[in-house]
Amino acid sequence: MSILGNCVPQRVFFYFERLCAIPHGSGNCGEISKYCQAVAKDLGLWVKRDELNNVIIKKPASEGYEAHEPVILQGHLDMVCEKDADCPIDFTADGLDLFLEGDWIGAKGTTLGGDDGIAVAMALAILEDDTLPHPPLEVVFTTDEETGMYGAEALDASVLEGKILLNADSECEGILTVSCAGGARTEIRLPLTAEDNAAPCYRVVFAGLQGGHSGVEINRGRHNADVLMGKFLRTLPEACRVVTIFGGTKDNAIPARAECVIASQEDLTNLAEAFVSTHRDEANAGLTAIVTAESTASTCFDGESTRRIGEFLATVPNGVQAMSKHIDGLVETSLNLGQLTCEGNELKATFALRTSVNEEKMKLAKKLEETAAAFGGVCTSHGFYPAWEYKEDSRLRDTMVRVYEEKYGKSPVVEAIHAGLECGFFCDKIQGLDAVSFGPDMRDIHTPRERLSISSTARTYDYLCEILKQL
Ligand SMILES: [Zn+2]
Repeated sequence: MSILGNCVPQRVFFYFERLCAIPHGSGNCGEISKYCQAVAKDLGLWVKRDELNNVIIKKPASEGYEAHEPVILQGHLDMVCEKDADCPIDFTADGLDLFLEGDWIGAKGTTLGGDDGIAVAMALAILEDDTLPHPPLEVVFTTDEETGMYGAEALDASVLEGKILLNADSECEGILTVSCAGGARTEIRLPLTAEDNAAPCYRVVFAGLQGGHSGVEINRGRHNADVLMGKFLRTLPEACRVVTIFGGTKDNAIPARAECVIASQEDLTNLAEAFVSTHRDEANAGLTAIVTAESTASTCFDGESTRRIGEFLATVPNGVQAMSKHIDGLVETSLNLGQLTCEGNELKATFALRTSVNEEKMKLAKKLEETAAAFGGVCTSHGFYPAWEYKEDSRLRDTMVRVYEEKYGKSPVVEAIHAGLECGFFCDKIQGLDAVSFGPDMRDIHTPRERLSISSTARTYDYLCEILKQL
């Protein structure tokens, strides 16, 4: 039974519904990749599928467009798999249970994968339509974007001739994204010295902070719970000792909660409460301290280690490091201490680094290395991904702005984001690439409340076809 049969553009929603019937969470893109390959073969088009399940499909120019520059149309095949606790769907075996709700499409109890299935559906509809005027097309479907952009990273771009890329992985109609951050993951390990302990122990928890996305929300004045814990440790009496410390589970989320077990002769309740009251402000109104007595631990870290943990957390670079000189209000370089834990006699701190200027990334990694060394620790970085730097002259951007204005009588918003997009990898692989990211309205992506707007998809598809006609 077709749920989307009456949605227009019909062929876009036909393909979208087919894609939703194929399990395609990150790491499980084999079937959806084969499906796209089969569609291309049926259409008699050139197609290549690689071992990471990336798919490249080429369609020759329509009549009269043979001399135009080839255009790359790109989206990712994988989706985030999130579901409600009581939802029976098995993401590795079942299709999604689609439903309509006014102008919106959703999937019962699960994410919908409009991010980024709608890009794939739009591209397939364009590939099969022989009435559309367009330059030579190179359609690229990547895999495992959501878990680290692994498909885009490994893609062999040497078969691509285009230097213009339309990435359809944005979720807000009327916004054209023209630059994004690159980044890396950095881990610092500090060796600590243990000693015997006989003092009573207290668990100090700082909670109620807002947390948030380590890129998009890094400049909102929200306290990092781990940094706050470090500052608290600095205020403690000499005789106090850290037993263990923990805060945050993802390097790309600002920790909203941190906890530390502290050996101390005196009850720490008043100290902790006084400390948080001086750190509560508008952005951190919910901050609370919870102090509970713990059973005594037989070992703790010595005084020198305890002081070093506090100094390190309170002074390590964290948060916004530089704002963009080109784009108002855009964070250019930042880092987030997202995970903090003790492993044996080591403190382990993990950071997400982001910057829209590629050379700043190495400088920031170096700064962390120096900080680690100053505290007697070691620093390692991995998972580097390139920034998509702002391009002063962009024919694609100019065309997309002009077409938008002609169609809707208003200007689109042109913006840069302090988060990652696959465009960074394509810019890295294709010299002089001119790229823009766009897409139809979606709500609550990456959650079971994800919705895709039908009317916005229709307008976005129409807009895309017009852009292709004018390139
Ligand atoms: Zn996406």
